[in-house]
Amino acid sequence: KFISFEGPDGAGKTSVLHAILDRLTPMLGEQLVITREPGGRDNQVAEAIRDLVLSPAYPAMDPWTEAMLYAAARRQHVVETIRPALADDKVIISDRYLDSSIAYQGGGRELGAERVADLNQYATNGLQPQATIYLDLAPEVGLARIQATRQDEINRLDVEALAFHQRVSAAYHDLIAADPDRFWVIDASQPLEQVVADAWDAMQHILTL
Ligand code: C5P
Ligand code: MG
Repeated sequence: KFISFEGPDGAGKTSVLHAILDRLTPMLGEQLVITREPGGRDNQVAEAIRDLVLSPAYPAMDPWTEAMLYAAARRQHVVETIRPALADDKVIISDRYLDSSIAYQGGGRELGAERVADLNQYATNGLQPQATIYLDLAPEVGLARIQATRQDEINRLDVEALAFHQRVSAAYHDLIAADPDRFWVIDASQPLEQVVADAWDAMQHILTL
């Protein structure tokens, strides 16, 4: 089973995922594989690309260059990490996957959702998660949370541009509308404990699918 976590910046994805994994690890033990994008657990090539693509040292990076690096990291992640784990009948939980590229590069960077999806055919060969937990938060709220708590991310995240975050959010919502059965949408504006409770609820349903 392949499950992804998605959401805009500021939605609390890191905290929620942490809480969920704390509960899942004792339940699933060795069957659980936790991974992330860009990058991937124990995936040296994909993690090296992560360092490159998230580094603030390259402000001149062209948006298509960026999209191709994300896709290249994803290709390595699918081939080396996700497919073998699926073949082994593991439960793979990825912090971000293809939807992030469609939302951030396709929507945020305005490359177009369809073109970024096409590019990623080379990376995924059509592999999609069985389920995606989406932490839903209005872009204005997400942005305000980042500005309040994470000065270090401000430069990289282009936080001046509310429009960027609005495009990311809109692209996510288009994906959800196009594939509602895959997405479990959680209201991330609630207090963290409630977001965790709702995400845990979704996770339990997903595991029995
Ligand atoms: O998941 P996390 O928030 O740690 O991801 C790191 C950052 O990478 C995100 O905040 C997002 O701005 C960026 N990102 C991106 N395009 C992707 C995936 C992540 O711009 N495809
Ligand atoms: Mg983040």
